[in-house]
Amino acid sequence: SDRIRIGIAGYGNLGRGVELALAQAPDMALAAVFTRRDPGALKLQSAGVPVHGMDGIADFTADIDVLILCGGSRTDLPEQGPALAALFNTVDSFDTHAKIPEYFAAVDEAARRGNRIAVISVGWDPGLFSLYRLYGEALLPEGAGDTFWGKGVSQGHSDALRRVPGVQNAVQYTVPSAEAMARARSGECANLSTREKHVRDCYVVLEAGADAQAVRQAIVTMPDYFADYDTTVNFISAAELQREHAAMPHGGYVIRSGTTGAGTRQMLEFGLKLESNPEFTASVLVAYARAAYRLGKGGEVGARTVFDIAPGLLSPKTAADLRKELL
Ligand code: NDP
Repeated sequence: SDRIRIGIAGYGNLGRGVELALAQAPDMALAAVFTRRDPGALKLQSAGVPVHGMDGIADFTADIDVLILCGGSRTDLPEQGPALAALFNTVDSFDTHAKIPEYFAAVDEAARRGNRIAVISVGWDPGLFSLYRLYGEALLPEGAGDTFWGKGVSQGHSDALRRVPGVQNAVQYTVPSAEAMARARSGECANLSTREKHVRDCYVVLEAGADAQAVRQAIVTMPDYFADYDTTVNFISAAELQREHAAMPHGGYVIRSGTTGAGTRQMLEFGLKLESNPEFTASVLVAYARAAYRLGKGGEVGARTVFDIAPGLLSPKTAADLRKELL
């Protein structure tokens, strides 16, 4: 078949999401999954796809058109991103915003050395939200922009809750403040801080005999994580946590309000409501893998971000069909 042959590097939440998203792509096929764990022990959701060890991945450069990197941003991608971009066309979802410039430089150098194309930091934030922040700024230069996150699970804050003595398990949701959203939409240009824009909802399972009041106090006063926020702590049972809070929802809004002419008010808003953060992020990665394939075919090399990729390249349709159907 002449489908685009995709490899998945790293099989966690995102890797499983990419596998599902590829089943919805008419022009792409999953060729192989690569893992650092025992390949024989990995259970894929689809039949007939080979799993290989990551250490032998260099033997597969001729079999993979685009490798989708599904490792974690904290420790996996800083190492895997540059190493794999020297061997394959790659797409990744590196999301440590402050480190994107240095990550871009490392991946760009490797991709140029290997004559490959590498699309970095794809997903929804960074990714689609970045695009809408750019549109907002470029189209409404006189105005203010705000990004709101949630309602969604924050892994870092959930981990922080679990480290509090007396906590057995916990989930933390970041939720946009309704009042702050209204102010952003009104064009008040209030320059709200992240703290003013969000509230934190915690669902906590206590260890047997733990003092609820002490746990609540330890949480709401925790510096960096909760102290500066409007934080709610709900104590629930382990069964309820498992039943109601096991999913990975997320989403948010990019809002830009500004003025044109003699103070004419204009507002741009983009929003996402995601039942599964990793499944949606994976869908974005797959669309950008199609773009990476086309750019690579065209002989382009080096690192790119969402800012550099023409939207038409994301669609399986031809440019002519897109003009006819969606313009
Ligand atoms: P996971 O922790 O599920 O997976 C990360 C890696 O850990 C996998 O590639 C896998 O590598 C390894 N792994 C997975 N499960 C296990 C396990 N049970 N035991 C041991 N190792 C395991 O992370 P996610 O897939 O949820 O997220 C990956 C990254 O995606 C995040 O770090 C985040 O930065 C990014 N992201 C970006 C978004 C955006 O909008 N840009 C949105 C959401 C996420 P291996 O198979 O090699 O062992």
